[in-house]
Amino acid sequence: MTVFEHPDFDQHETVAFHTNQQSGLKAIIAVHDTTLGPSLGGCRMFPYANEEQALTDVLRLSQGMTYKSALANIPLGGGKSVIIGNPQQDKTRELLLAMGEFIESQNGRYVGAEDSGTSVADIAIMAEKTKHLSGIHSDEEHGGDPSPSTAYGVFKGIEVAVDYRLGSDLKGVRVAIQGVGNVGYHLVKHLHQAGAEIVVADINQANLNRVVDEFGVTAVALEKILTADVDVLAPCAMGAAINKNTISNIKAGIIAGAANNQLDEEKTGWSLTELDILYAPDYVINAGGIIDCYYQTINQATSKLVNGHIDIIGENLKTIFQRSETSGRATSDVANEMALAVLKAATNEPNTESIDSVRGVI
Ligand code: NAD
Repeated sequence: MTVFEHPDFDQHETVAFHTNQQSGLKAIIAVHDTTLGPSLGGCRMFPYANEEQALTDVLRLSQGMTYKSALANIPLGGGKSVIIGNPQQDKTRELLLAMGEFIESQNGRYVGAEDSGTSVADIAIMAEKTKHLSGIHSDEEHGGDPSPSTAYGVFKGIEVAVDYRLGSDLKGVRVAIQGVGNVGYHLVKHLHQAGAEIVVADINQANLNRVVDEFGVTAVALEKILTADVDVLAPCAMGAAINKNTISNIKAGIIAGAANNQLDEEKTGWSLTELDILYAPDYVINAGGIIDCYYQTINQATSKLVNGHIDIIGENLKTIFQRSETSGRATSDVANEMALAVLKAATNEPNTESIDSVRGVI
């Protein structure tokens, strides 16, 4: 396994590996870029088949966090951590405390939060060993779990994409959601209220039943969700849902969902443009959670500030769609270019005032 030569290395500032024999912890922290501020990103626990898979995941996710914060206009850098293990079987208090110590050893250059496989309660245990965490202030208006804010941002993004492509609001618009966990559940709620027609699929029967019972949405077979005859496809499960095997059968004209790393590789973004599918780049539309975490870290997580800031998602998407249409380039390429421009401008003229205000808190 190589690190510097890894195809997703992309000039990461730090990639730290850690094991702790007593607890069985095996984890990686990747800090991609701290130009805009300390890196913030979730701590994912997943039963990776091997270390190579875990490394690829953490590198791709932490780079995405850099771009996400840059375009969301928040003074944070990009980082991510992964614990190699099955959250259902291997998660113990000792393991979470050891992860807290590992995060502490990064001296604030990495700030953790919950992610797939970790919960607010898990982060609270890590907090016994480090203060470099977000998503635990459950006493605030927007506290703890950031997924409701992620879902709200995705919902606002879907509104913009539907208006751009179909010139309509969401009433009667057909949406397929793959994965109705933390984010997917709240997304169903918003879409249901807006009058959309919703179909869902999930490998977790309890999560599926919850949205079927509560909102009367239609459940379809797992293998039918990506190819459902709908206007909008919202991937809200794991990464790489849009790949060379699935892309040619997608009927939706819009792809707009919460999952990180939805495209298996860069050129899939170009294929979507060729197929005239309007793709809302994942790290642009799912930035609601990082925006929420940012306001939690500066102790200002009110609905007014968080939801007001989330409006930037729609504005970014409009710009990306317009630039893509004018230039014929993939929306994913346009988004990357915009994020890199923010980083370049910050490198030339660092915004030290706002960075220090975050550093003072976390
Ligand atoms: P979650 O684990 O709560 O929910 C994911 C759901 O997808 C689960 O119900 C799971 O059973 C289901 N699932 C997994 N594989 C599936 C498959 N092959 N087919 C159908 N369903 C499947 O996670 P979440 O917090 O809701 O996050 C969802 C996605 O959004 C993840 O990719 C995550 O990285 C991304 N994301 C989450 C946030 C956040 O605030 N939670 C922020 C940004 C991005």
